[in-house]
Amino acid sequence: MNYKKALQHNIFKVISQSANELHVDCYVIGGFVRDFILKRGSAKDIDVVAVGDGIKLAKQVAKNLPTKPKVQVFKTYGTAMLRYDDIEIEFVGARKESYSENSRNPIVENGTLEDDQNRRDFTINALALNLSASSYGNLLDPFNGVSDLEKQIIRTPLTPDITYSDDPLRMMRAIRFATQLNFNIEKESLHAITKNSHRIKIITRERIVTELNKILESKKPSIGFILLEKTGLLDYIMPELTALKGIDEVDGQRHKDNFYHTLEVVDNIAENTNNLWLRWAALLHDIGKAPTKRFSKKVGWTFHGHEFEGSKMVYHLFKRLKMPLNDKMKFVQKMVFMSSRPIVLAQDIVTDSAVRRLVFDAGDYVDDLMTLCEADITTKNPKKFLKYHNNFKIVREKIIEVEARDHIRNFQPPITGEEIMTAFNIKPSREIGLIKDVIKEAILEGDIPNEYNAAYKLMVKEGERLGLKPHQKND
Ligand code: ATP
Repeated sequence: MNYKKALQHNIFKVISQSANELHVDCYVIGGFVRDFILKRGSAKDIDVVAVGDGIKLAKQVAKNLPTKPKVQVFKTYGTAMLRYDDIEIEFVGARKESYSENSRNPIVENGTLEDDQNRRDFTINALALNLSASSYGNLLDPFNGVSDLEKQIIRTPLTPDITYSDDPLRMMRAIRFATQLNFNIEKESLHAITKNSHRIKIITRERIVTELNKILESKKPSIGFILLEKTGLLDYIMPELTALKGIDEVDGQRHKDNFYHTLEVVDNIAENTNNLWLRWAALLHDIGKAPTKRFSKKVGWTFHGHEFEGSKMVYHLFKRLKMPLNDKMKFVQKMVFMSSRPIVLAQDIVTDSAVRRLVFDAGDYVDDLMTLCEADITTKNPKKFLKYHNNFKIVREKIIEVEARDHIRNFQPPITGEEIMTAFNIKPSREIGLIKDVIKEAILEGDIPNEYNAAYKLMVKEGERLGLKPHQKND
């Protein structure tokens, strides 16, 4: 492979020249080189290692660039960053690292390029391209990373047990890369991850969530979650999910394995949406099933109220993982809470009123809810599969129809409480709520259209039934 092709952007020439002026050797290393070989599109992040002072090199590069970009220095890490042409370039001096038991933050000393490659997490992330003028574009691949890219395996440069124990975040990274690239994790690595899974406790939850999000954003997220489960990591991170594992049987009656079902749903939804929070909703849509599981001889296995239970669990899970407790969390809660609603529609004849109620309750989220429910169809019975999908198609068509006619989304009652008070000349009272409910129900049932006049008439009728006298007539 001609690696010079990776270095066509003029930034590399400027870095090379700047390094020459400072008499230091420097290299592009890590993800940029890996993604070039994998042809994963042009990277927006470049990591540069200088055998010497990385911060000084960054400043020299900025001086030599026509745009004279600002250099951001991170003193604690000994790194510096600048932006040029939409690319983020990070500079660091080559370093040697040693770790202590209780922290993933190593003691750092200056080192050689080889020391620096040794501290990298995976062989495929330790690839470096020389930027020094005399060897420009030469690949340094001390651990056969290129061969691992060809074989599609994730392997650590040094002993896996030490690598993962030193910095347990690497366990998450290994699984994340395996998912993103659809690679296998080498056997010894997998073993070491399993052995060290308990060490994930020293990693901040924010870092864990960053990796979980990247897994969820992949093409086939189940790869990652199966690995997280297999290595024991998932038990530490999201026991709510591992609690869904397994099939129980009583009197010959079995329920499905809700863990693997969930992963199928996540993979399905990944084909239809890039909305991370909808993917989270798919991952969590059944978590209420573990605590609500019951068996009775009469009806077999039930999970009554699992949607409500699940939506409460979403809050606790988000809080524990230090995820945002904002509108994103509320969206996931709502999706989980409503996740079974359209299913009923898919199994039966779809009535207008059922669709109207769905749109009323889901509001702006009705399309996302439909996407979730379509992903939830994991039946292996081709007849049922087709029937459910067809019914959902009808539901989607009906949603559009009902929307155009009845404007149910973000429903505003056609008659306000104020109007009811004026019409009957009454003060705020229980009757107002009752009348409003009757009108809302009649609209949702399709007994009257969502219009002022029809609603007014019903209001008068209902008021009279409650013993109220109309104060003024609507004519
Ligand atoms: P992506 O941008 O897709 O996350 P990347 O490989 O560029 O991939 P970064 O997190 O930006 O990932 O890290 C850049 C490089 O730094 C990696 O390629 C790897 O060589 C090294 N690295 C990052 N995190 C670690 C770690 N925890 N342990 C060892 N090396 C690491």
